[in-house]
Amino acid sequence: MNVIKSLKEMAKIAQEPSNSKNTIGFIPTMGALHNGHLALIRQARKENKRVIVSIFINPKQFTNESDLMKYPRTIEQDVELIQDFVDFIFIPSACEIYPQDFQLSISVGAHTHDLEGEFRPGHFEGMATVVLKLLNIIRPDRAYFGLKDYQQFIVVSQMVKDFNIDTKIIGVPTIREISGLAMSSRNTRLSDKEKEISTRIYGILQKAKSVILNGAQNPQDIEKFVASELVKLPKSKVEYVAVRSLQLAKMKVIESDMVILVAVYIGEVRLIDNIIVPSGIQGADH
Ligand code: AMP
Repeated sequence: MNVIKSLKEMAKIAQEPSNSKNTIGFIPTMGALHNGHLALIRQARKENKRVIVSIFINPKQFTNESDLMKYPRTIEQDVELIQDFVDFIFIPSACEIYPQDFQLSISVGAHTHDLEGEFRPGHFEGMATVVLKLLNIIRPDRAYFGLKDYQQFIVVSQMVKDFNIDTKIIGVPTIREISGLAMSSRNTRLSDKEKEISTRIYGILQKAKSVILNGAQNPQDIEKFVASELVKLPKSKVEYVAVRSLQLAKMKVIESDMVILVAVYIGEVRLIDNIIVPSGIQGADH
């Protein structure tokens, strides 16, 4: 395992003459690594000859300065945690990623006008811009994204399609604590009490899933039910609850496979989670 800091060196290594067997699997991260990230690495390991993980806290995807400042930074532990499982860890500097004369940015589409996009203006532009840069530097065969950040997965999938980027985007199911809480770098900022409250979010999503599987027809009723359960959680502030198709389209009636997405603050910490629900309708889009 090697830690690479320079963009030029990373590009040179990644673009060494390859044959069809010498595939690269790439996992972009912002560090504070946990078992969720390890699941992405494990899948990349199975499917590629070489695995590269980047650690870069991307200032352009943070909506406010204080969130960026508070983001956990644990580089040494991160390297220790993953070094035996990856070939290269790419840790670029912000000034090399965004030199002084850096100007352009990716403009993201309709998928980002609401949900995370509504509450975090500029987030997806910043995320897509850095992901595009990293994909251009590394040119991986496959890049791995967690379905925990469902909308991000959809935006990145759309970006590689729209811009003819020759990387397959793979979505990896959400890894949870035994309690059901979706693993997240932000969980380290929860107090014990807040963590206990946060574990109930997934329980509410599971309850909504079973209501749908028992025949509920109206997505708005499900949204109301989930929101009403979330507001009952102590210290909670709900930002959104949405029942959408797998492509994030709004639905008038439940007629295809779907995803229920939520964003909720518990105390000062903003958490997102989602659950995928099959409609049970034959021919529903996947
Ligand atoms: P981050 O470091 O938070 O930007 O995450 C890097 C990648 O890991 C993203 O594709 C996330 O969706 C993914 N990820 C984060 N937490 C989880 C989790 N609990 N399960 C699966 N993937 C995750």
